[in-house]
Amino acid sequence: HAKEQGRNTYSYFTDKMNKEVSRRLAIEEQIHGALERGEFTVYYQTQVDINHNLIMGAEALLRWSNPALGKISPDEFIPIAEQTGVIIPLGKFVFQQAIVATSLWKKKHASPFRIAINLSPCQFRDPDLVSFIIDEVNQSELSAKEIELEITEGVLLSGHDYITEALGSLSQAGFSIAMDDFGTGYSSLNYLRTYPFNVLKIDRTFINDIEKGTANKELILAMIAMAHALGIRVVAEGVETAAQLDYLKHINCDYAQGFFFSEPDSVVKLLLSNPQPQCNIKIIKSS
Ligand code: C2E
Ligand code: MG
Ligand code: MG
Ligand code: MG
Repeated sequence: HAKEQGRNTYSYFTDKMNKEVSRRLAIEEQIHGALERGEFTVYYQTQVDINHNLIMGAEALLRWSNPALGKISPDEFIPIAEQTGVIIPLGKFVFQQAIVATSLWKKKHASPFRIAINLSPCQFRDPDLVSFIIDEVNQSELSAKEIELEITEGVLLSGHDYITEALGSLSQAGFSIAMDDFGTGYSSLNYLRTYPFNVLKIDRTFINDIEKGTANKELILAMIAMAHALGIRVVAEGVETAAQLDYLKHINCDYAQGFFFSEPDSVVKLLLSNPQPQCNIKIIKSS
């Protein structure tokens, strides 16, 4: 009996492993040339200034749709893009698309706008990263302060000099630097002091817990107080409900991003958004 069970468990795991391995291989195979075939698109998710009820910017988020594999989420393909080196041209593509989208937004709307772009740790290994970014911005109608570069703590963990140097140069050139997914990784408060951060993004797992009344509520409060004491603005990620937004306003959070306002969407949809998000107006009056 036990022997049979063992064999079943074994075949269950090997099946699962085989499926995972073949999916991975298929993604690896398909990711080569996917950019050239036009399979990647950049979506935009708005960020809202919660004190003024105004869209103040958007985050650029990659989307991949492949004929053989369908839609693949960034959580699945970004690690493979990193391991295969595809992240270098892909990262450049996101940057260029985001600049075009922001220029179009500025032609349409008078209010200030800032585009947030994710940078993977691997992109910092490219010695041309800083000059690429600076050149692209110089050739555009945008200024560095309209661009925010999001990095996670993982980027800083290695402590390499070239990362410190790159971040220093980009900050010096006027780019805004944001720490993404704060609270999930090592969350060293020291990073916030030693690197030139302008913005801290509180990970959505904390925001999720607001209505549950857990200790995370107090943690959010402390993160905001600490960031503000260091002159750093705070974005709450993954805001999905009016109650979450109310609490964030109450505790002085600066910006919010999440499905409550809008899901990531195409550049066309971004350009059609009203700078004053509709769904928010009632909430502001009632609070
Ligand atoms: P991230 O930078 O933390 O991006 C936020 C993620 O949260 C996005 O997932 C977004 O769609 C999702 N999100 C936003 N609001 C809500 C909400 O209210 N509820 C929930 N449940 N989720 C929400 P997405 O687009 O799947 O991207 C996942 C991750 O992949 C990103 O996390 C980022 O780390 C990475 N990524 C995406 N695009 C790029 C890119 O162009 N370059 C690099 N290096 N990484 C990227
Ligand atoms: Mg991000
Ligand atoms: Mg994030
Ligand atoms: Mg993330």
